[in-house]
Amino acid sequence: MRKDFWFVIALPLLCLAGSAAAQSDPAWTEPFPPHRVIGNVYYVGSKGLASYLITSRQGHILINSSLESSVPLIKDSVEKLGFHFSDIKILLISHAHGDHCAGSARIKEMTGAKYFVMDADVPVIESGGRADFQYGASSNALFPPTKVDRALHDGDEVRLGDTVLIAHLTPGHTRGTTTWTTRVSDSGKSYDVVIVGSPNVNPGYKLVGNAQYPQIAQDYERTFNVLKTLPCDVFLGAHGDYYGMEAKFARIKPGGANAFIDGEGYKRYVAEREQAFREELKRQSPRP
Ligand SMILES: [Zn+2]
Repeated sequence: MRKDFWFVIALPLLCLAGSAAAQSDPAWTEPFPPHRVIGNVYYVGSKGLASYLITSRQGHILINSSLESSVPLIKDSVEKLGFHFSDIKILLISHAHGDHCAGSARIKEMTGAKYFVMDADVPVIESGGRADFQYGASSNALFPPTKVDRALHDGDEVRLGDTVLIAHLTPGHTRGTTTWTTRVSDSGKSYDVVIVGSPNVNPGYKLVGNAQYPQIAQDYERTFNVLKTLPCDVFLGAHGDYYGMEAKFARIKPGGANAFIDGEGYKRYVAEREQAFREELKRQSPRP
């Protein structure tokens, strides 16, 4: 079950309950052991919401602030790994949905980090979710509006010390969904890391005749074309279940092979998600 899906099925319930999105999936707020993925890439998220710390001698980059209530958990995870939360200099996200970005205002306040967001997601972030094409009118999908310090464009590099991340626009799930790539060194070898932003078509998304987002289907097409061309050794994503995080984590052994090296798993995932998109598009398309 994909977690974005939970986010969506939870919304009607939450509208009735009037409670926080954090209550929609217990895994979102369940702590998970922080761990090194590969090279200078670390997992600092919860069981259900992925956050990554990419370290450098000039400070660190954090991807995904998650929920407002995730912030203390992320801080704990960073500190358990022996890093300082206050050394986070740059904050990035997978996409402008509250389960990945609601904690951003708080993290900026606590660390002074600069917030870099893909151009097409900036209006959603700065309006606290009100500009979202699907959920803008759902009060439970809103989050604290947060000032973006740099609007990113497709292909932009984010640099800190020796670390370089590349922002790939992979739109559809949101207009500015971003897949992050970086190259890391580990035990003398070099690896391509891909952090998938989300290729998922949420329940209720209109792929045909969407007045709020007319080019949504073309944007998903573009996303699959991009994802299929990215070289990938280490497959990560906005939720751990994209890449089987828990099973891979369980296979970590001192001196053992790195369980997160899974280029074949990446290809299978992208193919399966593309198939799901095509089936949904067909289902929504008028029959001739
Ligand atoms: Zn999402």
